[in-house]
Amino acid sequence: MPIQKLTIFHLYPDAMNLYGDRGNVITLVRRMHERAIDVDLIEIKRGDKADFKYADIVFMGGGQDRGQKVIAPDLARRTGQIKSEVEKGLVCLTICGGFQLFGKYFKTSGGEILEGISIFDAYTVGSDQRCIGNIVIDISETLPSLCHSRAGGNLKTLVGFENHSGLTYLEGNTKPLGKVLTGYGNTGDKTYEGAVYKNCYGTYLHGPVLPKNPHFADHLIQTAINRRYGSWAPMKKIDDSIEIAAHKAAIARAKTAKTAHI
Ligand code: GLN
Repeated sequence: MPIQKLTIFHLYPDAMNLYGDRGNVITLVRRMHERAIDVDLIEIKRGDKADFKYADIVFMGGGQDRGQKVIAPDLARRTGQIKSEVEKGLVCLTICGGFQLFGKYFKTSGGEILEGISIFDAYTVGSDQRCIGNIVIDISETLPSLCHSRAGGNLKTLVGFENHSGLTYLEGNTKPLGKVLTGYGNTGDKTYEGAVYKNCYGTYLHGPVLPKNPHFADHLIQTAINRRYGSWAPMKKIDDSIEIAAHKAAIARAKTAKTAHI
């Protein structure tokens, strides 16, 4: 069956859009259009009706504690639907504050508990440590197929910028997205970063993360295509020479950071 269209649900674009995280949605749309795939982009704000069985990719950006507090109750009301679709392979990308609220809870540095939707078996605790700066993670252990696929080529890293005081601890069935090469990562101890559960990804990488990581963007799109239309020949390649040059420039810059350690 030819691919006609994919649908993106962009959650809380008004309250959760730190560091240009909206650029991730722009990247996904652009890369699908380059493959002649139509895109329905639906913004979901507080109180909007939404049936997640029509979503192919769900995106939620980062936000300050106060933004997270505003939207958390509305997100919690959607827990059942989102969980049900994630179990059926729904692709999600959640960034920083969005990532935190896809976990079990976020306890702010002021001691307030913001309930999450427990997609990730993880919890976040606000701290007086601010993890801020360029970050590079190695995804070859967690996404080997991506690193060696046509989409991934020889890119085994993701690059971005982090800025969070929340420290996230993974438990049970949730694995990290990558190993920290430069930066602080989930708990500020420079070991692991992000979270993966089925086709749901959480990461602290702002930037936005997708423009300089075209292999990851295509991995999300291809996964959504396969789920909606069945197994599918790899999408036609796009000339990513500029994106890959930006990726490598970000790595070179990060190597000089004080948090570079591998
Ligand atoms: N408010 C959260 C924190 O500081 C998330 C920040 C963000 O989304 N950049 O950890």
